[in-house]
Amino acid sequence: MDVLTHILLGILLGAIAGGDYWWWILFSIAPDIPQIFLYLLLGYRNKRKFLFPKAIDWDEFSNSKWSALFFLPHTVYAWALASLIFGPIASIAYGVHLLVDWPSHTGEWELRPFYPASQSLPGLFDGWKR
Ligand SMILES: [Zn+2]
Repeated sequence: MDVLTHILLGILLGAIAGGDYWWWILFSIAPDIPQIFLYLLLGYRNKRKFLFPKAIDWDEFSNSKWSALFFLPHTVYAWALASLIFGPIASIAYGVHLLVDWPSHTGEWELRPFYPASQSLPGLFDGWKR
């Protein structure tokens, strides 16, 4: 899912469970935060307006070392670490992020819960289809 959807889910979780909305939003987008650097790099390398890469720009990175910026934060290890360090809000929001990402990532961007192991969770549709 896209970042806006994750932000909206963080707001929804905050409304349902209570507590500080900013924590819910932060941990709802946390798995995607490491990608900001990659996002801007791709936009720069491909000379995109406002450094916003197009979907096709991601193709060259899906099997590179840079793909770890996507796969590592989307593992059960990262979720467990966030849960242990930051507690229940982080655990729920981070876990919901992974659950909603799972069906929308197919092919080379399928979630790999035990990355760098190659086993992946096949998604249901390509949320990033061009
Ligand atoms: Zn994500």
